[in-house]
Amino acid sequence: MKTAAIYARYSSNSQTEQSIEGQLDVCNKYAKNNDIQVVATYIDRAMTGTNDNRPDFQQMLKDSEKSSWDAVLVYALDRFGRNSIEVAINKQKLKKTGKILISATQRTSDNLDGTKNLDGILLENVYIGIAEYYSAELSQKVLRGLNENRKKGLFCGGGVPYGYRVENKRVYVDEDAAEIVRYIYERYSIGVTVPQILKELNARNILFKGREFNSGHIYKILSNERYSGKYTVHGETYTNTFPQIVSDELFDRVAQIAKKNLRCKRSVEVVYLLKNKIKCGHCGMPITAETGTSRHGKTIHYYKCSGRKRNITDCDLIVVRKETLEKIVMDAIINALSEPNAISKIVDHIYQVQEQILNEQKELKLLQSEKQKIDLAIDNIMSAIERGVMSNNAIRRLNELEEQQLEYEKKIAIEKSKTIDPIPKAEIANYYKSALKLEPLLLINYLVDEIILYNDRIEICFTSPITKSPDDCQGFLLYSNSTTISCYDKITGIFVNEPFYCIVKL
Ligand SMILES: [Zn+2]
Repeated sequence: MKTAAIYARYSSNSQTEQSIEGQLDVCNKYAKNNDIQVVATYIDRAMTGTNDNRPDFQQMLKDSEKSSWDAVLVYALDRFGRNSIEVAINKQKLKKTGKILISATQRTSDNLDGTKNLDGILLENVYIGIAEYYSAELSQKVLRGLNENRKKGLFCGGGVPYGYRVENKRVYVDEDAAEIVRYIYERYSIGVTVPQILKELNARNILFKGREFNSGHIYKILSNERYSGKYTVHGETYTNTFPQIVSDELFDRVAQIAKKNLRCKRSVEVVYLLKNKIKCGHCGMPITAETGTSRHGKTIHYYKCSGRKRNITDCDLIVVRKETLEKIVMDAIINALSEPNAISKIVDHIYQVQEQILNEQKELKLLQSEKQKIDLAIDNIMSAIERGVMSNNAIRRLNELEEQQLEYEKKIAIEKSKTIDPIPKAEIANYYKSALKLEPLLLINYLVDEIILYNDRIEICFTSPITKSPDDCQGFLLYSNSTTISCYDKITGIFVNEPFYCIVKL
């Protein structure tokens, strides 16, 4: 028997919100129906919109590391974060502990038996996207309230920075810690390095909120403008919230030094969009991300065939600059996924999956089929009456049946209210289009199966439902350079006037 921990949270964002008890009820029922043993329950009760302090959620993630349960069960996926990116990040965190996320009301990307569920992956994004869409208006209201508080200089939640304490929504200086903040600023301003400062603090047994200091804490302190008495949010700077701990002059001096050091030492983390998806068309080896230095000393990023790099194969695949390749591929994919044909395939598919899920709801189905029998019986008696066959028994039976019919209608309505309303096709399409614009990476991650790079072309293969089977593939060109869009003639198979092209297999 598989085991799971339930996580429930009250979300003020959700349109069809369930109470905590309602969520637990639905989750427990789901567990029972699916032979899952519930071994733990975590609950975060009502919180304000921006307060991300979800103690039980954090505890659940922590416990996932050492516990033996197989999955975390939630009522709906939006319990797992405030937006789809946060949900994805938190899911990833959970995944690292070897656990999967399942929902009692929505299909998810992972199945309990370890298999992947592509339909779930797609639907997951749609559901999360729609929840976000509904929350936008509400969060605006919450933001307005917060702005009022900020104007009054009141603390609006979030973590309290080291060196401060909060009382009755007012921020005060915690003198002992503020002394350490000043010490860190002063040392750094005269050229002492962060590792050295760290050593000094640790040697004096100075703690950061009860724990040992680490270099991350110090970097964070050195870059937090609140210590200079300023606090900027949504482009507006407030000076009446945080009392000043370091002088403007010292803060600016430190910022200058940090800027210089950052430029030389700490490299910005580079995200390789196509990592793990791209493979060499000549030798079949994966293409890996590389960093190098140009003749002029500039850092450059590129993609290189790992077979060629390690001399395993005598591959002659070109080395491609990261930005160039990513732009070509992203443009091609977004173009392909924006094709009306592709959109309707995806939307149809998501809709079908949704229907299927709704149909699968066993209890509802059972009630509906019972009611159908009653409807039929009533029809039969009615037509008998019409034909002139009438008896007291028939009338009595008819009354009975009509009472039952009413009873079943009530039960069905209750059962239906427990389920999430189906999302209409138009709404799915709208979400999909906006996601394509706002979060193309998310969709690309799910929809692109493989990218194959050759010296003269790139082939992009999509996952189902866009591609049904490899034989179904029809290549067509979608790569556009800055001035012209070239075309691939599907009938003749000839590419027109473009030496380097991108085949998108649809
Ligand atoms: Zn190769």
